[in-house]
Amino acid sequence: MVKKIMILASVIIIILIGYFALLYFEKPDYSCLNFVQRYVANKISQQFDNEINKLPKDRRTIVDFDTLMNGLNFYEKAFAQRIFEINPAQLGFKGPFYSIDRPKDLIEISSIKVGYRETGIQFCPEHSYKDYLRMMDQMQKDIGRRLYIDSGYRSPGRQAYLFFHYLTSSSKYSLMENAKWIAMPGYSQHGSPINNAIDFCNQDGINGFSDGQKQSDFENLPENKWMLKNASRFNFYLSYPKNNQWGVAYEPWHWHWEIKSN
Ligand SMILES: [Zn+2]
Repeated sequence: MVKKIMILASVIIIILIGYFALLYFEKPDYSCLNFVQRYVANKISQQFDNEINKLPKDRRTIVDFDTLMNGLNFYEKAFAQRIFEINPAQLGFKGPFYSIDRPKDLIEISSIKVGYRETGIQFCPEHSYKDYLRMMDQMQKDIGRRLYIDSGYRSPGRQAYLFFHYLTSSSKYSLMENAKWIAMPGYSQHGSPINNAIDFCNQDGINGFSDGQKQSDFENLPENKWMLKNASRFNFYLSYPKNNQWGVAYEPWHWHWEIKSN
């Protein structure tokens, strides 16, 4: 009798393992991962968090992709690789591939207190940082205010961390929803060595996306109205206006550096 129960239990366990394995290997539904894939995605997000928190604060936005991936166990790593091999165009993202190479002239920018929080240590390539400083001096003269760098250069590793962080939180395991907000490693303007992007916030920490803020909170700032009129004189352009062609959500805080020919 006991033997029969043991055999039955073993069979059930084998069937369950097979079922979980099937779900793990199933091609992800881009609008919602199955429950085994959600479980793995959460483990990846937690492990990325652990790896990032082991680093000194000034290295967290430029974390190396391989360092992050090597912190995962075998099945987590294989799943993360499968996700990053998806062509972002299949998720509705229509932007180009930028780069996975780190700019050689990154400038370290100290963390700044904005409202009740800090921006954290940020990095920018030298050319865009110089134009940012010129632009802020002019803004200060015109309206007595400045914008601060809430997110500058981000390495492919940082992008990988953010991708899983938002996939398992606000995007509710929808790869398609996530792709509207967070680019895959290599596809973010924040990783572009030349046309790199900056997410701005004002002195009160308003950026339009954190802590329950709305896009309009940033959009309506006098600093933003000044940017819309003047930023192009300093080679900064709004990347993702409303209903943009790239399949990216409206991001009034996200501006990229570019030399336009005319
Ligand atoms: Zn951005």
